[in-house]
Amino acid sequence: MLRATRLGRGPHKPLAILRHMGPLCAVRAQLQCFQHSCAEKRGSCARHPLWTGPVSSLGGTRQSPINIQWRDSVYDPQLTPLRVSYDATSCRYLWNTGYFFQVEFDDSSEESGISGGPLGNHYRLKQFHFHWGAANAWGSEHVVDGHAYPAELHLVHWNPVKYENYKEAAVGEDGLAVIGVFLKLGARHETLQRLVDLLPDVKHKDTQVTVGPFDPSELLPACRDYWTYPGSLTTPPLAESVTWIIQKMPIEVAPSQLAAFRTLLFSGRGEEEEAMVDNYRPLQPLLDREVRASFQATRVGTSARVGRTE
Ligand SMILES: [Zn+2]
Repeated sequence: MLRATRLGRGPHKPLAILRHMGPLCAVRAQLQCFQHSCAEKRGSCARHPLWTGPVSSLGGTRQSPINIQWRDSVYDPQLTPLRVSYDATSCRYLWNTGYFFQVEFDDSSEESGISGGPLGNHYRLKQFHFHWGAANAWGSEHVVDGHAYPAELHLVHWNPVKYENYKEAAVGEDGLAVIGVFLKLGARHETLQRLVDLLPDVKHKDTQVTVGPFDPSELLPACRDYWTYPGSLTTPPLAESVTWIIQKMPIEVAPSQLAAFRTLLFSGRGEEEEAMVDNYRPLQPLLDREVRASFQATRVGTSARVGRTE
């Protein structure tokens, strides 16, 4: 509970409430975060292994994550379906980074990647990871109309046409393309369960386990409608290098699967145990960016508010 108190995510959940009150409040919370020593005020900021100094993005104009306002997003008929092709055999290992768990892929060939949609060329899959909350009422980085999901999957790809490797691409213009997928509570997700079964092996920071062949396209929703906008990494160095592709439809996971995420630890072996929860960045201001949609927000689509659990 010490950690929950420090984070402000105890019974009163002030940040979660802020996130539901709309972007202005969220922006204010984020600014306070930067103005008052991020490392002291925000556990999620302090926690990341790379959050060591002043946040370098002050003055940034395209930071992530954001609140996606369904009605303000602009349908763009030029946005073609995203083409996704992953080679399951390029999956290498799953590890506890000290901030979340991440699955790494061999990115030495063009085998695994995405193209089409808002992208000018093919992008290679490098890794995927999740962000989640201490409870089911929050945890996603992006929110839709102020609604947070319990978790969010990020599939991270880099641009091999403009850059030699992931490291260069991560801080370069048009360097990365990240697919975001919301997780909502529902039926057990059998593909995700393969990863959940491995989590006891990576309970502590800097531990890893071999995954075997794994096709992450099985973690994508059946409907591939998406929003896209220019943004940034949500962990240091917060580089404004990301074309975000946020799936409209969430995937369903069982409560027990999210509970398994929370059994991981931020801490390493021999350190005081701290549950790995609330590993997401606060909302950032949209400023003058436009969120484009690959789909028309029809009356049916709008009223359905797919995946909302309110
Ligand atoms: Zn992420």
